[in-house]
Amino acid sequence: MKSISERTGFILGIAVKCIRYYGWRQKPTHRCITGTRSRCCSILLGKMLPDEETDRLSTLLWKVIEEAFEYSAEAHKDHGQSIPAKDSLYDFIQRRCNEELKDEREQDTLLQMSEMWGAYVGEPVWKQSLRFAWMEECCGGEEMFVASNYSAIMDRISKAATDKAEILLGKRVVSVRTPKERTSGQKVCVTTDDGSIREFDEVVMSTPLGWLKKYPDCFIPSLPPRLTSAIDNLKLSQLEKVFITFPTAFWIEDKTNDSFPSYTNWLRPRYAEETNPHHWPQEIWNLAAFSPPNNHPTILFYLYGDCSRHINSDCTPQAILATEWLKDELNGHGSYCNFQTGIEEADKDVEAFKEGCVERRLWFCGEHAAPFEECGTVAGAYLSGESTGVKVAGLYGLKA
Ligand SMILES: Cc1cc2nc3c(=O)[nH]c(=O)nc-3n(C[C@H](O)[C@H](O)[C@H](O)COP(=O)(O)OP(=O)(O)OC[C@H]3O[C@@H](n4cnc5c(N)ncnc54)[C@H](O)[C@@H]3O)c2cc1C
Repeated sequence: MKSISERTGFILGIAVKCIRYYGWRQKPTHRCITGTRSRCCSILLGKMLPDEETDRLSTLLWKVIEEAFEYSAEAHKDHGQSIPAKDSLYDFIQRRCNEELKDEREQDTLLQMSEMWGAYVGEPVWKQSLRFAWMEECCGGEEMFVASNYSAIMDRISKAATDKAEILLGKRVVSVRTPKERTSGQKVCVTTDDGSIREFDEVVMSTPLGWLKKYPDCFIPSLPPRLTSAIDNLKLSQLEKVFITFPTAFWIEDKTNDSFPSYTNWLRPRYAEETNPHHWPQEIWNLAAFSPPNNHPTILFYLYGDCSRHINSDCTPQAILATEWLKDELNGHGSYCNFQTGIEEADKDVEAFKEGCVERRLWFCGEHAAPFEECGTVAGAYLSGESTGVKVAGLYGLKA
């Protein structure tokens, strides 16, 4: 089978697109991060909306989303109890939209635009818990787009491990036996699928949330109830990308003055009943809009929620590359955790992972154990590993 880069002609960052600016941490990699020409466009009923309307409504939409973050952060001071668990971000946007806009057509357009939230969290905006919207706030603030690929960032964040640790590849963990008490003097035993057993003073589990959901019995004895319910409560979203590469970027007519938008959003298309009876919105990034040498004659589609599930089960792309995280056990059969309507204590669930089972010499890290504002991101996964490392080192009197 051909590799991704053989099929598309270049190395793709298939998992990530944006990095929230995080102080010094991204500085070494700034040189590989460039912006795109940032023209965005929205297609309503098959026709492009005027730029002025797209800009005005999307600015208003982000203002309302920021308000929702503030509203839920304020409610969080009282443990979020003033916001019913079933309320969604969409409910909030709908309320504010009616207050902000008089024109019914504009109200409807803004609500349709709000569906782009799906491509951030991987599930529709009406599934986003309003009570825990504050935990998604990393989608606000300054964002960067990686125009090349993630390799420079991977090199940087894996350096400590590749320099100093013994890394065993091609082995899957199948069980983790922990002592009941730290003082017992027993070690943690990890068994891999080749039958080998290794002993460790401390173990940090970085398997994805979806893997923990699938194999709760891999821990002996079972995990404490707070962690078991955190694994149950936090949901996984379904975000996928599809890259379609052409011999040339035929959609750019004037190569010297590229005016094709870098981002296009087809708002709830109702005019393709045969191929899209559920009117799933479609959004594309035009990778030809990058500056050289990172521009490619490629269109990148973002798919989420039911649309992702549909593509995964029904389509067999041949000339295009479609990620299939849903089928990948090592990725936990999903993209990353999110906080859906109905969840009661998402913050405490994440806290449970962050605390781990110190008594049992067992720790957790990954995007689901990240600082609240960084859950679901690479930066969050990295930070969770780093802070767990600091805690473990501290137990042994070591300075990190
Ligand atoms: C389509 C998509 C778009 C995204 N966009 C962005 C973005 O723009 N910005 C951003 O910051 N993040 C983005 N993310 C999220 C980001 O990719 C994840 O949050 C991050 O990779 C999670 O890191 P992790 O270490 O928790 O888990 P993973 O990266 O899933 O790492 C888990 C590791 O555990 C290994 N493993 C699994 N099971 C076992 C086992 N039994 N034994 C041994 N090893 C095992 C796996 O092989 C894997 O290496 C996106 C994700 C997707 C799917």
